[in-house]
Amino acid sequence: MTPAALFDGIVQGTAAVQRRAMSKTITLLESTRTDHRAQGDALLTALLPHTGKAFRLGISGVPGVGKSTFIEALGLYLIGQGRRVAVLTIDPSSTVSGGSILGDKTRMEHLSVHEKAYIRPSPSGGTLGGVAEKTREAMLVCEAAGYDVVIVETVGVGQSEIAVAGMTDMFVLLQLPNAGDDLQAIKKGVMEIADLVVINKADLDKNAATRAEAQITSSLRLLGQHGNPENAHHDTHLWHPKVVQISALLGQGVDAFWAAVTQFRQLQTANGRLAARREKQALAWMWERIDAGLKQAFRQHPQVRALLPQLQADVAAGRIAASTAARNLLLAQSQPAQAAI
Ligand code: GDP
Repeated sequence: MTPAALFDGIVQGTAAVQRRAMSKTITLLESTRTDHRAQGDALLTALLPHTGKAFRLGISGVPGVGKSTFIEALGLYLIGQGRRVAVLTIDPSSTVSGGSILGDKTRMEHLSVHEKAYIRPSPSGGTLGGVAEKTREAMLVCEAAGYDVVIVETVGVGQSEIAVAGMTDMFVLLQLPNAGDDLQAIKKGVMEIADLVVINKADLDKNAATRAEAQITSSLRLLGQHGNPENAHHDTHLWHPKVVQISALLGQGVDAFWAAVTQFRQLQTANGRLAARREKQALAWMWERIDAGLKQAFRQHPQVRALLPQLQADVAAGRIAASTAARNLLLAQSQPAQAAI
């Protein structure tokens, strides 16, 4: 399919044509070939005016907390309300080992075959930054195709949650009703970026879930008061992060969850926070990719490649200060390439 055909397929195709065009476009965007990248960039630019209308929801939690059960229940609930739902995934394990925590084909059995849903597994390989970039681009493709809610799912390693919170309008953390579970999230810095905490599996032990709700509510209040203002992206005067109990398995509490999401969305839209958050995210994304691109170009520079092994060995052995080595390398990189030793 030509880029023009992909564009038409995404923007005005029937559901089946759209899904095919979306998958082909996302594959094109994931390609590392320079000509593919140029086509992908042109297509993204054309699609951009058709994006931005969806609500971008980040969801995270440890393996087994019930993410896929919850997303399936939520997705079907939203489809029941006449919406279309896309689910994208950032699997940090794929960037490390090429393996996959979230790649199981049997996940979201009913949602994955529904014609009003689009599910795309995590791009594999590369750095977390690279995977996050592909996911952001895939998100724009889903929006251009008219999906109303784009869910970006990840699994708890800390950094991947920060990446997801940095590309979504609202970040939701799923927790188990276990004492201590919230401490792990606090330690990793994930609790303080949550706009909403969901306690799943409330059907297993209602009392434990209620205790966890009270505990997490007070943790959130403390984080709101004493948390690092650099990390806390919410102004507590405007939105105080909430805690809701659900049973994803029994489909209980999904409506209350969505009511909280809607309240958040309305508030953040009315006070201009949503637009400000997206603006900040887009600029941060640009700079993040510039940093990554510069670093890659730096590592490929002939002078740097010539000097690097020795300087690394010198720094490791304590023969030269790390800052001096860095300065020497930066200086080498600023020399014309043909002057390589
Ligand atoms: P994920 O790894 O976070 O995607 O978790 P899954 O959605 O695969 O769920 C892990 C297990 O917990 C599965 O056996 C689910 O059936 C079960 N589960 C998920 N949600 C609930 C729930 O609300 N209540 C109970 N009792 N079990 C649940």
